Amino acid sequence: MKRRAWLLLPLASCAKREAFVAVAETVRIVDIDRGMVTVDKIAKTKAEWRQALSPTRYWVMREAGTEQPFTGEYDKYEGPGVFRCAACGIALFSGDHKFISSSGWPSFWQPLAPQNILKRQDGDRTEVLCIRCEGHLGHVFDDGPQPTGLRYCINSIALKLTK
Ligand code: FE
Repeated sequence: MKRRAWLLLPLASCAKREAFVAVAETVRIVDIDRGMVTVDKIAKTKAEWRQALSPTRYWVMREAGTEQPFTGEYDKYEGPGVFRCAACGIALFSGDHKFISSSGWPSFWQPLAPQNILKRQDGDRTEVLCIRCEGHLGHVFDDGPQPTGLRYCINSIALKLTK
């Protein structure tokens, strides 16, 4: 009797742990076609991110690196479009809110939706990340144009333009 009880307990606790792990963390974001939606957060290991992203994109998005100014694909782009997270695809910025700054990085005076980004204190700066995959995008400064006075200074390589 005693022996059987001892055997059952670890099995039960094991099953519970698996059930807990299977519950994905979700987040509410704005989808440009569907409005507010609930999506799964993306959680990958370092090794999985390394496989999914190019080396430079991995360095910028997972290690908070900064691409060289004036070298990215979008800093001089002035057309329309939606800028999506290069790692997980959610819409982050709009061409409607983009302006040409002298910084050498794509600059926006607001995100497409505040729900879609995450802000985190980074020393004396404010880091901007994708809410879904927590990929590093860049920083936000208070020297931008009106109406917000903000400048979201974003690495081109963290974005993918769709029209
Ligand atoms: Fe993302």
